[in-house]
Amino acid sequence: MHTATLIRGDGIGPEITEATLEIIKAAGVKIKWEEVTAGEGALEKYGTPLPDEVISSLKSTGVGLKGPLTTPVGSGFRSINVALRKELDLYANLRPARSFPGVKALYEGIDLVVVRENTEDLYAGVEHMVGDDAAESIKIITRKASERVARFAFDYAQNAGRKKVTAVHKANILKLSDGLFLEAVRKVAEDYPHLEFDDCIVDNMAMQLVQKPWQYEVMVMPNLYGDILSDLCAGLVGGLGLVPGANIGDESALFEPVHGSAPKYAGQNRVNPTAMIMAAVLMLGYLGENEAANKIERNLAALLEDGEYVTPDLGGTTGTREMALALAEAVSLS
Ligand code: NAD
Repeated sequence: MHTATLIRGDGIGPEITEATLEIIKAAGVKIKWEEVTAGEGALEKYGTPLPDEVISSLKSTGVGLKGPLTTPVGSGFRSINVALRKELDLYANLRPARSFPGVKALYEGIDLVVVRENTEDLYAGVEHMVGDDAAESIKIITRKASERVARFAFDYAQNAGRKKVTAVHKANILKLSDGLFLEAVRKVAEDYPHLEFDDCIVDNMAMQLVQKPWQYEVMVMPNLYGDILSDLCAGLVGGLGLVPGANIGDESALFEPVHGSAPKYAGQNRVNPTAMIMAAVLMLGYLGENEAANKIERNLAALLEDGEYVTPDLGGTTGTREMALALAEAVSLS
C-alpha cells in the first residue's frame, strides 16, 4: 500500500481527479490518499490558497497527484503551483508529449519530452514597479539550478533509452543569464558522451518544432521557455487535454496535467481526463508500479484509437465520467 497526497484542484479539477481515481482503482493499485485542499477552494475554506497542511502532507508522503489550480491574472494571490514547486524544491518539470493513434493532430508518431527548469528564471517572482509607469521582473538563472536540471534531463534520456538531448536558450541575446544556463548544460553533457547533444535558440526551436518535430527527443530549458514550448508540444499531439507533467525533486514529486482549471467547462462533465490519467501513469511509474502504469497507458491508447468513448475536444460525445468508466472497465478486464 502506498500513501500519497491528493489535491483535487479548482474548475475542472474535481471531475478529472474523480475519473483518474477510478482508473487507478481499476488497475488494482492500492493507495491511501491524504486529501488536502489548495487554490480557490482553500481560499474560501481556510482563508489561504496554500494551507500549511498541503506542504506538510507532500513532505511526509513524498508523492502527490494534483488537479489544476486557478491563479487570478494580474492581481490576487501568487501562483500556488509556482509556490509549491519552490517550497518543495521540485526542480525538474518533465512534460512528455506523445501522439496517440486515432487522435487528430498535425503529425503522427511524435514522442517529445520537455524538461523545464522549475524553480527560477522569471518565475522567481521578483518583480516590482518603478514609479507608476514602468515595471521590472528579474530573470534569475543560477549554475546550481541549471546543472541539476541538466543532469535530470540527461539521466532521464539515458534511463528512457533516448539518444539525444537538446538545450533550448536565448544565449545570443541574454548572454549572461541564458549564457550561464547553456554553459552549465554543456558541462553536464560531457558526462554523457554516448548521448547526442545539441542546442537551439528558443525562437528557432518554436519554428523547428512546428515544422520538423521529429528532429528532437529530450529538450531541456529554462522555466519560461519550458512553459511555452510544452504547450506548443501539447498542440502538436492534439491539445492540452492529453499531456501530463511531473514536478520532481530529490525528496518529493508532484504529478499533474499540463493544462489549467478551464473554469468555463467546470461541472459540465465534458473535458478530457486523459492528461490527468497520464499524470497518474507517470506517478505510478515513479512509485515502481510499472505494470499498472503500462496497463493504463495501453488501454487508454486503445480507447482513444477506437474513438467511441472520447470527449468533445477529440470530436466525440462522451462525458468525462463515461469515458473514465469505459477505460476503468477495459483496465480491470485486461
Ligand atoms: P486552461 O488550460 O485551463 O484552458 C485553456 C483551454 O484549453 C480551455 O479553454 C479548453 O479549451 C482547453 N482545455 C484545457 N484542459 C482541457 C481538458 N482537460 N479537456 C479539454 N480541453 C481542455 O488554461 P487557461 O484558461 O489559460 O487557465 C485557466 C486557469 O488555470 C488560470 O487560472 C491558470 O492560471 C490556471 N492554470 C493552472 C495550471 C496548473 O494548475 N498546473 C496550469 C495552467 C493554468
